[in-house]
Parts: sequence; structure tokens; C-alpha cells
Amino acid sequence: MISAKEIIGHLSSPSDADIALVEKAYAVAEKAHEGHTRYSGEPYMTHVAAVSLRLAEMGMGPRTVAAALLHDTIEDTEITEDDIRREFGEEILFLVEGVTKLSSVRYYGTDRHNESLRKLFVATSQDIRVLIIKLVDRLHNMMTLAHVPEKKRLRIARETLEIYVPVSHRLGMGRIRKELEDLAFPYVYPEEHKKVLEILKKKIGKYEERLERERKALQKKLAEAGIRHFNTSYRVKGLYSLFQKLKRKDWDIDQVYDLLAIRVVLSNMEDCYKVLGIIHEMWRPLPKRVKDYIAFPKPNGYQSIHTTVATGSANILEIQIRTEKMHHEAEYGIASHIIYKDRQVGQPVNRAENWFAQLVPSLFRPFAWRKTTETAHVTKSSPAKVKIPLWISQIGEMYAAPDSGAELVEDMRTDFFKHRIFVFTPLGDVVDLPLGATPIDFAYAIHSEIGNQTSSSKVNGKMASLDTELRNGDIVEIETKKSSKPTRKWLESAKTTMAKRHIKAVLEK
Ligand code: MN
Repeated sequence: MISAKEIIGHLSSPSDADIALVEKAYAVAEKAHEGHTRYSGEPYMTHVAAVSLRLAEMGMGPRTVAAALLHDTIEDTEITEDDIRREFGEEILFLVEGVTKLSSVRYYGTDRHNESLRKLFVATSQDIRVLIIKLVDRLHNMMTLAHVPEKKRLRIARETLEIYVPVSHRLGMGRIRKELEDLAFPYVYPEEHKKVLEILKKKIGKYEERLERERKALQKKLAEAGIRHFNTSYRVKGLYSLFQKLKRKDWDIDQVYDLLAIRVVLSNMEDCYKVLGIIHEMWRPLPKRVKDYIAFPKPNGYQSIHTTVATGSANILEIQIRTEKMHHEAEYGIASHIIYKDRQVGQPVNRAENWFAQLVPSLFRPFAWRKTTETAHVTKSSPAKVKIPLWISQIGEMYAAPDSGAELVEDMRTDFFKHRIFVFTPLGDVVDLPLGATPIDFAYAIHSEIGNQTSSSKVNGKMASLDTELRNGDIVEIETKKSSKPTRKWLESAKTTMAKRHIKAVLEK
């Protein structure tokens, strides 16, 4: 099992307080999960320790790492919110609660409203660290998915592809996206997965030797040209992203030019353009294949120069040229922007300090956190350099001056879901309904039999009349009785045509 010591070993220059915090979170989590096991039979602690370690490796700070150790305690153990507040304070509680809340955003199995679900997912997280913990949590769950009962597997894998992958992509978190995609791929598309794997094997054979040879040749040229600091590596395209491309190219692998890629990472931007010249002198570039994403970043902030070349042995290779900073951002995306800030320990974090505000500074003046002098340097260092993904800045543009994080999320929800609301079953499945929908509509959306036998409803744990107007995020519970029957009044309360149709059918009988 991964130890607290190992996790702490990945923190960057932790203070004594940081070490104590992570050790305590580890001990509390270990005790809380004692006797619990994963589907694999391993102690439950292996999961939270793995999530926490991965976050530490990514460069996240001690608070995020500690919160990750505790992320399943409120939901799965005797530990209460009060316990965490008392032992770890408001900020850790905020993160743990955030991750717990996010578990209630679930993919319901219909593709119609996935985009809204993605936005709900992001909006619900409130703090980018919550989202990052949740993504890494999912990553570990995907790594161990083989042990999960078959019935559940497909839903989890599809949810990963439909919600988690697009979210990580749009946040620019390239590495985690690729891992999630390739882990989910064989479960969601088993046949296609096999097919892609076969095509790939046939095409590239002993690619490693060849790539290694090209990489060495390139290194030699760069050194001769006087480039001082550079790093080269190679990669094979991920299976899922290859699958996506093959579909667009009529399954002709010879049309996929970025199957194999060599990456050159440099210390500054001037060198990137210099190296592009060196490469084009060395290998023949394919026409119209040079893409300058440094001058013109992708919408999610991705920066690099790409070019496709034919090497001596007639291999087609993509070369990706970028600076160290661009490389880090391509791997970690938004996380790379907050890592610095996350490392500043011992400063109170205001709940109003939401991550949209951090990313879209000009739209969110004044910052609640400007009031504290200790964080002044953060304000100075973070704007301007941060490249905001278009998607996020569009969300930000809707809000000129929100007063608090909670209100912001509330606003966002109403804006996003002008015509639809999303409510949850007690198990956390999402049901989408039109605005103004009532528990009656909810019941019929679950099943017509449940609709017909509805006797009473609870909204957020409290008894609520059947004509209650539901709101985004409500948890709705329906109680049924065999003796219950639809009434005229139900017809007035129902908003969906489906509910109305079923009610009318019964009334007419
Ligand atoms: Mn978990």
C-alpha cells in the first residue's frame, strides 16, 4: 500500500505543517475505511492513497492532497462533516464536500443532454481543485474497472467518455484525458477496440526501434546546431484518439499522419522556431502540414508547433515542438495554472474565491481574496499569463460581478438551463425535465408505472406536494402505493407531454 511518506515525498518543499496535515489525513482516512474493501478485494485505503499520490505527483499542494485522502469519508464512512471541519478546518471540508457533491452528477444513459451535464459537472465543482480530485478519482476507478460487476462497468465507462473525457479535454488536461479515453475504450466499444489494435499492430510493427533511431539522429542535429537545452521523446497515438481519426479517414491508417510523433521540448520560444527550421532541413516536410499553435493556440489553450515529415526510412512522423511551460500546460492544463497557488499553505481560502474568478480575473473585480495582503503576490503573478480556454471564458462572460461562489453557481445553472432542469434520484441519477416540472413529471420520467402509482413525494429529504415546482439540483423521491391513481389535478400539475398522456389515458378508462 502507498504510504503517507511516499505521498509526502512528492510534495514540493513541504513545511512541517504540510507534512503533519497529510499524515493526519492519511491516519484519519485509514481508520475510517478500516475493514472496507474495493471490488478487487484490496483494502479501500489503496484507492484513496493512489488518488492522493497521483495528485501529489502532478504537483498539487498539500491541502488538495489531504482532501483527496479524505474524499470518500463523508459518503462511505462514519466520519461526518463536523468531524472534518473540527479536525481539518473549513477549506479541507469544502474540498471534500465538493467531491462528494460531484458524485451526484451522473450520466443517465441518454445522449441528448450530455453537453448540459458536462456544464453542470463543471459548475457544481465550484473550485477547480474539486474537479481535479474528481478526475483523478475517476482515473483510478477506471484503472480498477475490471473488478467492478459487469452490469456497472459499461455505465461507468460510458460516463467517463461522455462527461469526464470532454471536461478534461476542455480544461486542457491532455495526459489525464488520454488515459481516461484508453481505459474506457475497450469497455464501450469492444469490437472497435480490437479492430484498431490489430490495424495498429500491423502498421507499426517494431516502431520503437525506428523511433528511437530518428530521435537520436534529431538530437545529434540539434546539438550540432548549438541548441543548448532540449528534451526529446516519442509517443504513439492513443488508441481511442486513433479510433476517432480512423472513423474520419475511412479506416485508412495511411491517412493518419500523427500516429507516431517525436516531441521536442525547449527552454524558449525562439528555439522552437529555430528547431522547426533544423527539422525541415533534415527531413522533408509534407506540404500544408505545418501548424503553428504557438501563434494560434487551440481553443483549450494548447500550444505547440506541429509539422509532419518523411524521414529517410520513409516513415511519416509528426514532430511537436514546444517550450517546457507549454509542455506542462499541455499535460496538466488548467491544473498547471493553479498549482503554484495551491502550494501557498496556511492562507485562508474564502469560499467566494471560486475558480472561474481566478481564471477570468477582469470579470470578477473586486476579488474577495485581495483583502488579504498575504495573497497579493498571487494576484500579481496569475493574470495575463493564464490562457483561458474559450469555453471557460464564455461561462465567465455571463457574470459581471457575482457576490459569492454559491450565487455564481446558482446563476450559472439558471443561465445554462433556461429551458431544462436537472434533478436527481436518491441514487444520484440525473433526470432532465422542462422548466416548471413537478414530482409528477419526475415520476413519469422514471417509469409510467411509478407515475401511475405515485402517492407522495419528497424533495431534498422533505415531504413536498405533488405540484411543487422542482428546481435544478433537487433530489426527488417518489413513494408509490398500489391504490394510488392519477387525478384531474395531476393533469394540471404535469408539464411533460409524456406525463400528461399517461394521466389522460388512465382518466379516460
Ligand atoms: Mn473515490
